Amino acid sequence: MEKIKYDLVARKEPVKIPKNLGFGKYFTDHVFEMDYSNEKGWHNPTIKKLENLSIHPGSMYFHYGQGVFEGLKAFKTDAGEVVIFRPEKHIQRLNNSARRVCIPEVDNEFLHYALSELISIERDWIPTEKGESLYIRPFIFGSDSFLGVKPSSNYKLIILLSPVGAYYPEGFKPVKILVQDEYVRAVRKGLGECKTPANYAASLLAGEEARKKGFTQVLWLDGIEQKYIEEVGTMNIFIKFKNEVVTPKLNGSILPGVTRDSVITILKDWGINITERLVTIDEVVTEYKNGNVDGVFGTGTAAIISSVGWLNFKGFEMTFNNGEPGDLDKKLFDEITSIHYGQIEDRHNWLTHVEVKEIEV
Ligand SMILES: *Cc1c(COP(=O)(O)O)cnc(C)c1O
Repeated sequence: MEKIKYDLVARKEPVKIPKNLGFGKYFTDHVFEMDYSNEKGWHNPTIKKLENLSIHPGSMYFHYGQGVFEGLKAFKTDAGEVVIFRPEKHIQRLNNSARRVCIPEVDNEFLHYALSELISIERDWIPTEKGESLYIRPFIFGSDSFLGVKPSSNYKLIILLSPVGAYYPEGFKPVKILVQDEYVRAVRKGLGECKTPANYAASLLAGEEARKKGFTQVLWLDGIEQKYIEEVGTMNIFIKFKNEVVTPKLNGSILPGVTRDSVITILKDWGINITERLVTIDEVVTEYKNGNVDGVFGTGTAAIISSVGWLNFKGFEMTFNNGEPGDLDKKLFDEITSIHYGQIEDRHNWLTHVEVKEIEV
């Protein structure tokens, strides 16, 4: 692979991170960009100023949605070190997603290196309060200008960085979720397990309709029988039954969440009975009526853990823990965030340290 080209803007003033960061509203000064062509493969890796792109309106991505993305986070630990949470797992998933939509894979190690370089340059943009982080959004799209349907011959990979605030600035707050039994998001052997914009396009209308009825998000059922629970728009789902914690097993239509994987590992560390299996919505309702459901929570990079206070299926409302966050949910949230800021031992080596270098501009 070629060397990364640095086309940096000199900072006249120190970085000022805005207050009330929210999610995905602000961006850092630089991006990483790289191009692909059939002749040259991936080439021209550059870290440069964030600017608008100039793209031909015939670009294939606009018409046929050939794209993939990732979402991961960097933190500044209490000791001042810069770390990224499980980057190799996210890069692996980016390549898995890419394969599924005919996008050429990227060298894992090179992308990891590029990510570290970009974050090292933008380290002053990493907010340091608990819950805050630098959100990392790598994405790839087909850029040929051609209106026939086929895989693009040219691609662009970009890594955008966005400083983000705590997901729960006023404390951990349970969400209200509608079980979606009209639309489906994905089907087995379709695109559900890949992080591609198409899955989000498929979910928007259901999400909007649920919001109008007062829900935060929807819980998707399987696309074939609409019987098994799958996941929540941007999160994987866990059900706390009396004697076991259950999360739907990965069946091809569920996104294999990195947070999901981390939570499964932590629950096992704690000796909690965690099972990956099929769960029908009827089982959840029946067990709820029998008093055997202690609660429900979601997992994802953005919120980390999201307590579900209410779950509504065909008008039947299940309330968990009187709408208060469950103890296990809070404990998991604290455990993962404490790892992020280096406050407890990183016993599974989930943090990758970014070597901070001074790069000549
Ligand atoms: C990204 C994503 C998740 C969560 O995955 P994490 O790796 O934990 O952030 C869950 N569901 C969908 C559909 C997603 O796109």
